[in-house]
Amino acid sequence: MAKTQKKVKVTFLGGVGEIGKNMTVIECGEDMIIVDMGVAFPKDDCPGMDAIIPNIEYVKSNAKKLRAIVLTHGHEDHIGAIPYYAEFIKKTPVYGTALTLGLLKRKLDKNAARCNLVTVAEGDVVQLGAMRVEFIKVAHSMAGACALAVYTDGGTVFVTGDFKIDNTPIDGKKTNLSRIAQIGAKGVLLMLGESTNIERKGSSTSEMVVGQNLENIFIGNKNKRLVIACFASSNYRVQQVLNLAHKYNRKVVLAGKSMKGMVDVASACGELSVPKGVIVDSVGKLLPGETLILATGSQGEPLSALHQMSKGEFNKINLGKDDVVVLSSSPIPGNEKSVYDVINDIFRKGAEVIYDSMNDIHVSGHAYEEELKLMLTLVRPEYFMPVHGEYRHQFKHARAAVSQGVPSKNIVIPNIGECYTVSRKGIKKHSNVEAGNAYVDGVVLEDGETVVNDRRSLAQYGMLLVLAAVDVDRGVVVGGVDVVARGFNLTEAIEKKIKNAVVDSINCADFDKSDIDEYAKSVKKAVRKLIAKDRQYPIILPVVVQD
Ligand SMILES: [Zn+2]
Ligand SMILES: [Zn+2]
Repeated sequence: MAKTQKKVKVTFLGGVGEIGKNMTVIECGEDMIIVDMGVAFPKDDCPGMDAIIPNIEYVKSNAKKLRAIVLTHGHEDHIGAIPYYAEFIKKTPVYGTALTLGLLKRKLDKNAARCNLVTVAEGDVVQLGAMRVEFIKVAHSMAGACALAVYTDGGTVFVTGDFKIDNTPIDGKKTNLSRIAQIGAKGVLLMLGESTNIERKGSSTSEMVVGQNLENIFIGNKNKRLVIACFASSNYRVQQVLNLAHKYNRKVVLAGKSMKGMVDVASACGELSVPKGVIVDSVGKLLPGETLILATGSQGEPLSALHQMSKGEFNKINLGKDDVVVLSSSPIPGNEKSVYDVINDIFRKGAEVIYDSMNDIHVSGHAYEEELKLMLTLVRPEYFMPVHGEYRHQFKHARAAVSQGVPSKNIVIPNIGECYTVSRKGIKKHSNVEAGNAYVDGVVLEDGETVVNDRRSLAQYGMLLVLAAVDVDRGVVVGGVDVVARGFNLTEAIEKKIKNAVVDSINCADFDKSDIDEYAKSVKKAVRKLIAKDRQYPIILPVVVQD
C-alpha cells in the first residue's frame, strides 16, 4: 500500500492581521518548530503596559513535539517575546544568525546562560526532528536576516521573513535570489510572505542612497554639531554614519543604552566595523563641527536619548542654534504624535531639524509591491498565505499573488489563532486554537485582559469606593455609608442617592443574609444601576464589613 503523504500544519499565533509580535508554528508528523517569537508595543488603549506578546498556550500544550525556535532576524517584533518565556523554552534550541542571537542574548541577560542558543550562518541547513530548515540570506534594515525553507515530508514551506531586494547593500550581501529560485524550481508547497509594504508601488530605495543624502548634510553643515537619531538595530545606518564621521573628522558620542549595546553586539559579530578612534565617551571640549551625537529615539520614545535632549535633560547636552538634528527614520504608524512633539521641542530650542522622508534620509527595510511580486515569481508556491501585516496589507498581497499566477482558491489570509493543514490535495482549516494577547507589565500578567479593561474603565470613568458596616443577624446597615470617589464627579446629590441606594440594597433585599459576600454583590449591583442612568461606568469597589 502506498504510504500516505504527511500533511504540513501551520498555526498563526501572531503577526497576522497586525504589525508586530510575529509567531508562527509549523508542524509535520511528530515535529513542531516555532518561527519567530516577537513583541508588539502597546498603544494608548493599553495604559501602562510594557509590551504585548503572543499567548503561547498552544505550544505549551504540545511541548513534547517542540524541536526548535527558528529566528529570521533580530528585530523586536521577531525575538522580543523570548525573554518573557525564557523559563518555558530553556530546553528548546533557538537557532539564529550571530547578530540575531547576539541581540537576543543581551535581552535574555542572566537567563542567556540557561538557554540553548545555536548560531547558524546564511546558507546553513539544520535538522530538526524529521524537518530540515535552510537559512537563506535576505537584505533587510539590519544584518543577519534570513528567509527560511522548511523541508518536511509533506512538502516545502518557504517563509520570506522580513526582506527587501537591495542591489547595493552596505555589506555587499544581497538577497540570495538565485538560491530562492532553485528552491522554487524544486517545488514549494506553501509560501508565507511578508506584506508590510505591499501598498507602496515600485521597488524600495537602496540603503546606499541614505548614505549619499546624509553626506550632503555633513557637507552643508561643517560648523554645526550633528545629532543623528535612528533605530539602534539599523546596523547599516549606524555603519554609514560612523564612516561619514570618520571621513569628515567628527568624533561620535553614542547616546542611549540600546545604541551602545547594538554597537557592541554588532561589532563583536563582525556586522559593524567601527573606524579606529571615531567613538568617544563624551562631547568634552570638542567644537560643534567636530562632534556627532548618534542617538536613539527616532520614534519619540519617552525615555530615549533624543527625547531627553529635546527637554534639555540628557548628559548636559543642550541643543541650540549650533545643532542640526537629523531623524533618520519615519514614524511608525501610531507614533506620529510623539515624534512631532520631540521635533517641536527641538525647534523651540533653536536647532535645525531635518526629518521628512522627502530628504531620503531614511529608506524602508521592507520590499515594495514589485519586489514582493518578484519573490512570488521566484518561489512559485502552490499555496500562499500573506503574513506580517494588517488585513489590508494581507488582502492586497493576496491579490498580487493572483496576478503572479497563484490560483485564488490556493490563497488563504490567515488570522491569529487559525490553524491549517496543507497538502498537494488541498488546504483544510481546523478549529481555532487558544491564541491572542498576553500582556506584560513588569511581568507577564495572568489575566492581562481584565487588567487592561479595568485600566480603560479607570481612565475613562474613574472609581467609586463604597463602604458600609452591617449587622448580619438583622441583615441591616449600621452606622452610615461612606463613598470615596477618584476620577469621578461625585456631587453631593449623587452621593446622597448612592447612600440611599446602598441602604435599600441591603435593608430591603432578600438575599442570603448570613453570607457577607452577598451584601457586597447587592451593593455593587445597586450602585451600578443608579450610576448607569447617567451613562457613567466607573469601577465600583464595595467594601461591606460585619459590625
Ligand atoms: Zn524586521
Ligand atoms: Zn518584522
